[in-house]
Amino acid sequence: MGKSTIINQLLPGLQVRTQEVSSVLDSGKHTTTAAHLYHLDAESALIDSPGLQEFGLHHLGPDELEMAFREFRPFLGKCRFANCRHLKEPGCAIHEAVASGAIATRRLDYYQQLRGEIS
Ligand SMILES: [Zn+2]
Repeated sequence: MGKSTIINQLLPGLQVRTQEVSSVLDSGKHTTTAAHLYHLDAESALIDSPGLQEFGLHHLGPDELEMAFREFRPFLGKCRFANCRHLKEPGCAIHEAVASGAIATRRLDYYQQLRGEIS
């Protein structure tokens, strides 16, 4: 499980939990059934979740979701279409910002993935 490896790299104290996951895996059951939030430092947290609904982003509307991507904010409202979803629409300011390097491609990918999950 790559996810467990990443969690252990970020939070070495979680070795025990990863072991628990492994033993659950051996029994053929689901690996993760609840979301866990770990505090990495004062500003960062890690959420380990089997799905988006587990930690409650599903109540966000599209407008709230795009605002949650802080680097999108300077470009919001500048798309050609007022109801732009930033998916494939022409004249999308978010896509232009990605093309110019102002927004990372993976951030747009992640936004679009979440946008698909909430719609
Ligand atoms: Zn757009």
